[in-house]
Amino acid sequence: MNTLKTTDKMTAALSLLCALALTSCGAPEARQTTAADETAVTVTETVTEQPETLPPLSIVSETAEPETTEPETTEPETTESETTDPETTDPETTEPETTEPETTEPETTEPAASYELGFKEDLSEYEKYLDPEDRDGYLLLVNPEHPLGRDYKPSDLTLLTDRREGRKDELRLYAGKALEAFLMESRANGCKRMTSVSAYRPYNTQEYIFDNEVKGYMEEGMTREEAIKKARSDTAYPGESEHQSGLAVDVLDYGSTLSTFGGTFEAEWLAANCWKFGFILRYPEDKESITTYVYEPWHFRYVGRYHAKRIFDMHMCLEEYIEYLANN
Ligand SMILES: [Zn+2]
Repeated sequence: MNTLKTTDKMTAALSLLCALALTSCGAPEARQTTAADETAVTVTETVTEQPETLPPLSIVSETAEPETTEPETTEPETTESETTDPETTDPETTEPETTEPETTEPETTEPAASYELGFKEDLSEYEKYLDPEDRDGYLLLVNPEHPLGRDYKPSDLTLLTDRREGRKDELRLYAGKALEAFLMESRANGCKRMTSVSAYRPYNTQEYIFDNEVKGYMEEGMTREEAIKKARSDTAYPGESEHQSGLAVDVLDYGSTLSTFGGTFEAEWLAANCWKFGFILRYPEDKESITTYVYEPWHFRYVGRYHAKRIFDMHMCLEEYIEYLANN
């Protein structure tokens, strides 16, 4: 178990430093293991300014500032995925399901729409993001064996509309819109205080975190080599964090800590319903030996609904699913 680490480790001090120095960082994250309690950080960091009255999230509503996050403006010119997406030209008439699901996947036995989404909110405008036309465009695998390079930065990063005040979290366009729907629907289902706490994390931020980790261990008396080894055992090495993909997000119930979130009603709801929004629980409790990361009930990864549903139904982690796809 001590070889497992969390992708989201960050000391309280670092988190604070990041919040001050790097506005795109500042993830209030910590190890799940008890040994890591010293690193536990909660989203209550802002509670001091915003007591327990529920508006604390001060979610920026989509109507509040449509211009800044208007997806259409970034959509046309960006990634390869968009170029194949005809919906961008006329969002009004979108009806992804009806287009041609059968013709594109003859080999699978899965019926196209054999499930009920049962949304309480009207998410029809989000549908094209939840179930993207570019079905296979979001399956990027990022882990210690498949790190991202220093220069990897998605071209369609978009500021999250539904974010905490003062934060500038970004995700790739489709993941961000899907997250918006995910959070909206979670609140309609009793998860009143769900909020994202960390999204896109650039390479240099990971590097900053890792270097500080090494520095801390060296100050405790370790040699540089020992410190690097120790840091690698519990912190994602630069390039190995899935957050760099712009497709991963950490969400928490406002006021929860990473170590107390697991097992809550909110965590259970998110895990059971994430596929409807195109997300998977990236580091499940019983897949630690494969992912090499501890259970992270707060960390969700966008892959699009088609694959999210299959991953959910087959009870796989992304590593297993990618292999499954390669063999089938
Ligand atoms: Zn995470």
